[in-house]
Amino acid sequence: MQLNIGVIKGDGIGPEIVTEAMKVLDRVGEVYGHSCEFTQLLMGGASIDVNGIPLTDETIKAAKACEAVLMGSIGGDASTSPWYQLEPSKRPEAGLLKIRKELNLFANLRPAVLYDELKGACPLKEEITAGGFDMMIMRELTGGLYFGERSTEEIGGVMTAKDSLTYNEVEIRRIAKRGFDIAMKRRKKVTSVDKANVLDSSRLWRKVVAEVAQDYPEVTLENMLVDNCAMQLVKDPKQFDVILTENMFGDILSDEASMVTGSIGMLASASLNETKFGLYEPSGGSAPDIAGQGIANPIATILSAAMMLRFSFDLDKEADAIEHAVGRVLSDGYRTGDIMSEGKKKVGTVQMGDLICERI
Ligand code: NAD
Repeated sequence: MQLNIGVIKGDGIGPEIVTEAMKVLDRVGEVYGHSCEFTQLLMGGASIDVNGIPLTDETIKAAKACEAVLMGSIGGDASTSPWYQLEPSKRPEAGLLKIRKELNLFANLRPAVLYDELKGACPLKEEITAGGFDMMIMRELTGGLYFGERSTEEIGGVMTAKDSLTYNEVEIRRIAKRGFDIAMKRRKKVTSVDKANVLDSSRLWRKVVAEVAQDYPEVTLENMLVDNCAMQLVKDPKQFDVILTENMFGDILSDEASMVTGSIGMLASASLNETKFGLYEPSGGSAPDIAGQGIANPIATILSAAMMLRFSFDLDKEADAIEHAVGRVLSDGYRTGDIMSEGKKKVGTVQMGDLICERI
């Protein structure tokens, strides 16, 4: 199979970590008989340096022509980089918001996996985390409170601010279907998170999710209020498989879930639209503090590439091969600096990529 992949290396550690993920994809291709066609795309600071803006229309067009896009990260140090002297709409991050919108990426997936080998990095008690955990947070990304009408005005001499939270059934149905599809590839459980005891938007959310669930009889659906979910994530994270939720709840819960895994360098993510297309990137930023030193952890980007194989190309076996290789490198004791602990073998970015390739 030929895989037509757009690549945004981006800024800071982006080029270093994406190069390793491309190496791993090429290795998977070699072993399983696929060829990867990579199209380099410029975004963020790298695009500002060449084009004066963080994302050009040509780049959007080129991205749309790919089957999936693998991204590093964009942005620099806001206090020293000249990119941040520009007006906000021309800064690196504006490119990211624009590409999400242009590609209609409404479903954001963030796996939160605690590898048994890294449980020392988890801030929770050992009896809670024994055996590790593996959940997927599925967050609606283009609706809800962050996209609703807002205003700030003086009413009767009092400054008053208003934000509105709107969802329609079409928006809810499409993300719910995505959530159930993904649960079918996992342990077949969906926890839908809302605030249905208070919010109308949550009551509609719960109703539509229940309707979608009827098409997935193999999947168990459970409803949970967001405040309870925030507690359950630290009390018993093992209970979760897919957490399906709206934009703001997902923003908060996905950061909480990431935190309990211990390291940003391990966290992959995917943003999907209604087709098979997706944008895959590590959850962390461009880490300007360590850029160019060859010490960044490439695992989150490599795991994002595995998600790309699974969700955009339906290559589950190949995705499993990458995930297992990462697990084996960790159990063989290799660590980049960010996840280093006593008695383990410290390696750099390139060596970590090589070790993963060797195990595929
Ligand atoms: P950051 O995630 O870049 O860095 C936070 C800390 O985590 C730093 O100490 C960094 O060294 C470390 N870190 C992050 N990724 C790592 C990796 N792979 N290996 C080892 N250590 C890693 O967050 P920040 O410093 O707040 O942001 C830096 C820049 O990144 C900013 O310009 C921000 O806007 C941008 N950013 C971009 C994205 C994106 O491209 N999607 C996301 C978040 C932040």
